[in-house]
Amino acid sequence: MERTFAIIKPDAVADGNAGNILALIEKNGFKVLALRKQHLTRPIAEGFYAVHKGKGFFEELIAFMTEGPVILLALEREDAVAKWREVMGATNPEKAEAGTVRKLYGANIGRNASHGSDSQENAAIELAWFFRGYELN
Ligand code: UDP
Repeated sequence: MERTFAIIKPDAVADGNAGNILALIEKNGFKVLALRKQHLTRPIAEGFYAVHKGKGFFEELIAFMTEGPVILLALEREDAVAKWREVMGATNPEKAEAGTVRKLYGANIGRNASHGSDSQENAAIELAWFFRGYELN
């Protein structure tokens, strides 16, 4: 079993798509280990996306991620990191496969409805950024 970290981003929560995305998560065999709705503050969002600091889209990304509540998720299944990236689809919804979260619910490369860790190493770091060990069971 493997774990990954996911976010249902502010656009999808505001548009009322969180339930559909959670249904897709469960339909794809993930166990929801932990779930929390939270309005991210700037320091939390900047820390989470520290790797993108200095890039042209950083400010826009932080403004977006702090504009309204998100849903934070700890997910588990076999091959969870790669499988969740597959269910989300490409970063740019225009390039995402039909039926993926980003194709269904994303508007553009910035407002793309969901986040997923890109490696097992980052999944562990991101899960630890948002959840306490005792919550992940
Ligand atoms: N992003 C953006 N413009 C870009 C690339 C990325 O606004 O040109 C945003 C987008 O919301 C994306 C996030 O920054 O999901 C993180 O980018 P990354 O390249 O890590 O993509 P992801 O791993 O989320 O697919």
